[in-house]
Amino acid sequence: MIWGQADLLEKLRELARNFWWTWQPNVVELFRELDPALWRETGHNPVEFLQKLSHDQLSKRASEMALHSRVDYAFRRLNEYLKNEDSWGATYASMFRARPVAYFSAEFGLHESLPIYSGGLGVLAGDHLKSASDLGVPLVGIGLFYAQGYFRQSLDDKGWQIENYLNADPKLLPVDPALGPDGKPVIVRVETQSGVLQARVWRVEVGRTSLLLLDSNVPENSESDRALTARLYGGDARVRIRQELLLGVGGVRALQALNIDPSVLHLNEGHSAFAVLEMIRFMMESEEIPFGEAVRDVAARTVFTTHTPVAAGHDRFGASLIDEHLGKLRESLRLSHEDFMGLGRVFPGDSGEPFCMTVLALKLSRHANGVSALHGQVSRRMWQPLYPQLSEEQVPIGHITNGVHALSWIAPQMLVIYNSYLGGGWERRMRHPEAWTDVHKIEDGELWETHQILKAQMIEFIRRRLVEQYTRRKEPPEILEKVSQALDLEVLTLGFARRFATYKRAGLVLLDAERIARIVNSSNRPIQLVFAGKAHPEDHLGKELIQAIAHMARDDRFSHRLVFIEDYDMNTARQLVQGVDVWLNNPRRPQEASGTSGEKALLNGVLNCSILDGWWAEAYDGSNGFSIGRGRSHSNPATQDERDHRELLETLTNEVVPLYYDRDASNLPRGWIKRQKAALRSLAWRFNADRMVMDYVQNAYLPAAGGLPCEVGK
Ligand SMILES: *Cc1c(COP(=O)(O)O)cnc(C)c1O
Repeated sequence: MIWGQADLLEKLRELARNFWWTWQPNVVELFRELDPALWRETGHNPVEFLQKLSHDQLSKRASEMALHSRVDYAFRRLNEYLKNEDSWGATYASMFRARPVAYFSAEFGLHESLPIYSGGLGVLAGDHLKSASDLGVPLVGIGLFYAQGYFRQSLDDKGWQIENYLNADPKLLPVDPALGPDGKPVIVRVETQSGVLQARVWRVEVGRTSLLLLDSNVPENSESDRALTARLYGGDARVRIRQELLLGVGGVRALQALNIDPSVLHLNEGHSAFAVLEMIRFMMESEEIPFGEAVRDVAARTVFTTHTPVAAGHDRFGASLIDEHLGKLRESLRLSHEDFMGLGRVFPGDSGEPFCMTVLALKLSRHANGVSALHGQVSRRMWQPLYPQLSEEQVPIGHITNGVHALSWIAPQMLVIYNSYLGGGWERRMRHPEAWTDVHKIEDGELWETHQILKAQMIEFIRRRLVEQYTRRKEPPEILEKVSQALDLEVLTLGFARRFATYKRAGLVLLDAERIARIVNSSNRPIQLVFAGKAHPEDHLGKELIQAIAHMARDDRFSHRLVFIEDYDMNTARQLVQGVDVWLNNPRRPQEASGTSGEKALLNGVLNCSILDGWWAEAYDGSNGFSIGRGRSHSNPATQDERDHRELLETLTNEVVPLYYDRDASNLPRGWIKRQKAALRSLAWRFNADRMVMDYVQNAYLPAAGGLPCEVGK
């Protein structure tokens, strides 16, 4: 190795060990340029990438890329970022410095290279950590280390989803053992009636925020417990309660072992609600106070965010599973079995009612919120029986609408535009409407040209993925040839990518195959459709839906113009939300609590075409995108689907298609561009994660830390 290269590699490795790099386009580009093929091969994981990068390649690229100065610059910026005292949080959240907010979540989506997320809930948690870091809000995340993650998706030659599980090697990930005050790796123990469960703790750096991940794969555990945290949402109810025990009770113990004394507990969804019980037990013991007093203290400091507007979607456990796993804890709390079960029941005396994690979380928190205005309303109605003395409007569940971490989702080319038109430092002001007033000054041609470049990139990405998919399935050369030419830059392109949960209705636009085939193949105003998404391994209907779409993609009526991209993840999401023209969203209202992929699209100047549900119900103003229908629901889902299908095609053919193809003499769709700008101007400042985290700080964390009543906005 030549002199200086060791230092260079050291700095690159340090950059790779903090997820900060993921929202720095310059650093992403730095890694990629070192060896584009290897970068792709290693799944954009810089730790693995740097281990596999040859010295020869490094020295070759070092001279070609002015590598030393670029790495030095990135490294300096990281250190400045980590040290920066001049943040929003330094002014408004400094009280959390000594005692941070503890943010619990069963999944975290930080980047495709750490696959411990399955969908929106995880990506939201990841975006929350990133914005907390940018804003300088002291917060520590707590989750589980799923070595096999969710699963990698592929389709067989019949279009049936196959789940592939790969074992991640911690040595190839930016995770380090969390060390206790004695300098030794922390091991967490949780007692159950059937033995002790143990876990090691990994620490992940996300800018200035740390994330702790509990991992049951330690030799002290039985074989089956070693595999306990291997998969996200992979097991039966027993696996699930043991995972949740580890996350909640183990999570609080991990914090204690690390000398972190949180001022606020934030439960992102009910999975982690056992954390509150463990905190209560700790208070009873350390302060020598009775259960009731400890509950008052801890509940006042607990914030609970619910995400599920459907009753069946909430975790519930039977009495024997609860007794096996929480029996020891219950004894410390000095509660009878029935009193304990009552904490998780809507009707505490109903011995037939199972133990519901959401009920527990609602009872043990004084700050509860849904994730959009409509979802807040739906949650108040759904949980009203828990508060028989209150009317629906009085139910203490407010809302804070989800947002996305802008710099993680905006294409670098769009950042160039924002940097030149919105003024330096716009990204630090993006949560203010004024930061976006100059959007109207963006030159139409420049905006459109940039979008076309991103669309072309996406098409290239899709073709490459299709060729890989079809090659793996050993398809004949003529089919490979065909898919290598799929999609057309000049054709209006709709994207639909998300989990294939039934309520999201991935197949809605395709319901009438003949009709959509005519729209797709219109001679002068055609459209094309891009689909991606995973179905839960147990969700047979979801898999059938994928199969049906995969089948249509092979139908000659749709060839080139309808594609299904396998293995939807954050990378695919980024490509699609940056490259399509329209982001399609047609959930069965009001089941989409918020939805966030449309917000990612919005920030890239992509127009949303959506049912008025979740975030879109409060975002759409008539001129900043497209609405499907007028925000109605129906007690009969079949009727609702039929009506929504009709209204979707109406919006598509009467509004979306004409506006897209209405071009001026220079072939610019002026009306479309106007709408893109209206969307950015009216929505970008609201639906980003900085605004969301600030709302949590001001309306939930600060009141919780000060023991003030709930202020979560209604
Ligand atoms: C953003 C994102 C989601 C969430 O999408 P919704 O629109 O909320 O369904 C799911 N999966 C991935 C990989 C994402 O990036």
